[in-house]
Amino acid sequence: MLYAQQLPALGDGADMSASAERRIGDRIAREIYRDPDYIDDPVLVDYVQGIWLRLMAAARTRGELSPELDEHYAWEIVLDRDRSVNAFALPGGYMGVNLGLIAVVSSEDELASVLAHELSHITQRHISRLMAQQGSQGPLMIAAMILGALAMSRDPQAGSAMIVGSQAVAIQGQLNFSRDMEREADRVGYGVMTQAGFDPQGFVSMFEKLQQANRFNDTGSFPYLRSHPLTSERIADMQARQQLLPQVAPAELTMVHAMMAARARVLSNTAVDSLRAAVAEGAGIQARSSTARQVGLLYASVLAAAKLREFPQAKLLYGRLQALVRDNAKAAQQVRLLGVELALAAGDPRLGKDLSVSGLGAPSTRPELFLWAQAMTLTGQAVQVAQTLQTWLASHPHDAQAWQLLSAAYAAQGQRLSAIRADAEAYVARLDYTAAQNRFKAAQDLIRSEGSVDHIEASIIDTRSRQIASLLREQALER
Ligand SMILES: [Zn+2]
Repeated sequence: MLYAQQLPALGDGADMSASAERRIGDRIAREIYRDPDYIDDPVLVDYVQGIWLRLMAAARTRGELSPELDEHYAWEIVLDRDRSVNAFALPGGYMGVNLGLIAVVSSEDELASVLAHELSHITQRHISRLMAQQGSQGPLMIAAMILGALAMSRDPQAGSAMIVGSQAVAIQGQLNFSRDMEREADRVGYGVMTQAGFDPQGFVSMFEKLQQANRFNDTGSFPYLRSHPLTSERIADMQARQQLLPQVAPAELTMVHAMMAARARVLSNTAVDSLRAAVAEGAGIQARSSTARQVGLLYASVLAAAKLREFPQAKLLYGRLQALVRDNAKAAQQVRLLGVELALAAGDPRLGKDLSVSGLGAPSTRPELFLWAQAMTLTGQAVQVAQTLQTWLASHPHDAQAWQLLSAAYAAQGQRLSAIRADAEAYVARLDYTAAQNRFKAAQDLIRSEGSVDHIEASIIDTRSRQIASLLREQALER
């Protein structure tokens, strides 16, 4: 109690530096990357990232995002296969999003409203303040507490096994944002999302969605409600904002959003029965439902049929989907990517190769690049893939999946040493320095056993191995 008055209050500067917070965030991210539920789905990451970048730009314009945070934080979207509805800002600018949230929102604007709220917890340094309150705990303990709280939010049993007794109490009592912080995140988030050009009605309808789940006491599938209780103050604030809005009909479901929600739904639940249900739903759609709704159901059915390896059925449904999106360029592009994905799954990469020639030029987005790289590697054009991925990695050195694809491209050319090194770099990108070091050692063993090797490659491997060894030593000293 002696220290109670020294706790930083809302609006005070936080005690923890941005780079110290980033180190805690990195520790947490490293564990999340290893979790089997972590998913780097390029299509969904690209979709969420697109919204996130618009929100960040708006926060910058409004002076909410300081240059210090901008520079030191990771600003990375981390997707989780979890079917429950949740999004969580983590220390150091990492932003966790469950596929369940993407599946349940009806528009980009609703998704933006949740992301803007969470972004505001980050920019207003709410997380730093919570952690500063844990002043006596070392960063290792704080990271463990946050990971424990995360585990508990998905599976209460697993969570309580990880953290016992008083620690669990400490997390519940202290790592929750205060009511004032929640109201501030609502207020700042609302400003940021409207500034970014999203429809403010999305904020209202998302709130209504949460209220409805709350009424049915559905906090099991909406863990977001447990960390974000709908207090009477928040509801009153919301109503006040709503009164200032013009009364317009809610935004229509767009084809692109319908497909992204469908994708999240399928990827978060790959049980055979659910996949079969998705295929049946797509095959039996009624022409009287809206086109966007049909597009969503068909997209889900194609993806589900591909996962079930029922390729003739998938191709049939794909043809129907293609016909529906013909006049919408953005939707048609998503459907084309799905077509390449389907072709790769069916073992017919020729379709994927066309990505580079049929109107696109060189692949320009991350999902396009990755599908193209897989198709080209399979059709004997790994040299071109390696060159293109090297260029991409020069500006995206932390892209683990790009390193993995580069490793596959080297392996396809018989360049074993380079393949192992690229694999090691994928572990570095996921912050798993121990695994990376093991791969570099494997490369050095290969050099020793083979005698004659590429000297440039060998010297890069030695240098990287020394750098990673030093990172590992630093890590061991942090407590
Ligand atoms: Zn919040």
